[in-house]
Amino acid sequence: MRALFVTSEAVPLIKTGGLADVSGALPGALREIGIDCRMLLPGYPQVLAAVTDLTPVAELTGLPRGFTAQLLQGTSPKSGTPLYVLDAPAAYQRPGGPYQDLHGQDHPDNAWRFALLSKAAAILASPASPLEWRPEVLHCNDWQSGLAPAYLNFMGAAVPSLMTVHNLAYQGIFPPDMLHDLDLPAWCFDVEGVEYYGNLSFLKAGLFYADRLTTVSPSYAQEIQHEPLGMGMQGLLATRKDRLTGILNGIDAAEWNPSSDLFLNAEYSQRAPSGKKKCKRALQKEMGLTEKADAPLFGLIARMTHQKGLDLVLSVADGLIARGAQLVMLGTGDKAIEHAVRDMALRYPGQAACFIGYDEALSHRIEAGSDLFLMPSRFEPCGLNQMYSLRYGAVPIVHATGGLRDTVREGVTGFVFAEPTAHSLWLAVERALTRYADATAWKAMMRAGMAEDFSWEHSAKGYAALYREALERR
Ligand code: ADP
Repeated sequence: MRALFVTSEAVPLIKTGGLADVSGALPGALREIGIDCRMLLPGYPQVLAAVTDLTPVAELTGLPRGFTAQLLQGTSPKSGTPLYVLDAPAAYQRPGGPYQDLHGQDHPDNAWRFALLSKAAAILASPASPLEWRPEVLHCNDWQSGLAPAYLNFMGAAVPSLMTVHNLAYQGIFPPDMLHDLDLPAWCFDVEGVEYYGNLSFLKAGLFYADRLTTVSPSYAQEIQHEPLGMGMQGLLATRKDRLTGILNGIDAAEWNPSSDLFLNAEYSQRAPSGKKKCKRALQKEMGLTEKADAPLFGLIARMTHQKGLDLVLSVADGLIARGAQLVMLGTGDKAIEHAVRDMALRYPGQAACFIGYDEALSHRIEAGSDLFLMPSRFEPCGLNQMYSLRYGAVPIVHATGGLRDTVREGVTGFVFAEPTAHSLWLAVERALTRYADATAWKAMMRAGMAEDFSWEHSAKGYAALYREALERR
């Protein structure tokens, strides 16, 4: 089966968030299980520089504003996935990131830039494509390719489309007078179309016109059918719930493997766990904590935003320290949260420590050195850190939401609390500390977590099944 995976970012080429991680891994995993998956990306300078074997293969006409662009073909450096790159210098060759300029302002013509990407994808999936290779399924991701299912529909093409939501908060909302500029027919500006509370929404378009909808965990697929997590899309998502599936993201099992992780001071595995003790001591030393082998060490790594629930952690910090625990926190984000975290660490020298900033190597060492991992997110579409924690034997304590609920098993691989409140978190912490005090039970729990399978192969099989189903339905 042939699938075209349309995305606005992919590691190792360009990244602003989780979409890039998925795009960097999933197409390769689909290829491993026999799907001829190819990726379509905008020709940002970063992409043109990083892909060394790009050659022009076609000219694409009929793009919004009567635009013509070159289509280049090459291979993604890490995974070897075949890439199509939409080379449109007027749209993509500019300083800054994929969505914002160097001052953090959205590019003023984002609607047009991503309408180009969406229309190019639809053309490649239609009989009008200049390529011999023609996908049987079009897989779109987030708002940036949300118009593709709409264009495909208006072109009368028979290829089914899939729309995956990685982040429902970004909806690609633009004024309604752009319709004409984007080559969209006036009649599609309707509740039964691209209209969204008086504006035009790229994401809404995708959610309305795609054959199948997916998001990144089964629980999140349920949660977004209601307020507040539906973020305005709950009505449409509930109406289309028979077409909506949650498929958990995988993790990069080569990069996140405690038995071969070059960032660590010692290697360990489920069968030979003793290296973890060395990692703990090294982390205590690195972060200026008292080197006590038996102090339960809690780790936390997160963007410091309201979503991640750091305020809950700060509320239980005094209690944790009073119970002899230690706390290491890594992250960056809202200044007020950063300050509060710093203040807390300063209050407890030797027992609490933080690093405000982004540090990949330290994030690996925290997973390896921690006994427990805190993830009290208010909502979490999938979440990666809890999966890394399970793999690294840092028993996770998580709020029962989205992907956290789907990956951590209460009392078996970790601790799950129902309400995003300090009280509910504290009760889970107490359950965890009681278990920690029982060395045999604790080892069993760590082992159970380390044995969980969060491979991309598993996710890829889920997507492949949906591709087949969408194709059969057509
Ligand atoms: P989100 O995508 O909402 O930020 P996830 O848990 O899905 O949350 O993924 C976060 C990713 O970013 C993880 O790989 C995590 O380790 C990493 N990360 C977040 N903040 C930092 C930081 N300050 N330093 C290093 N890695 C970080």
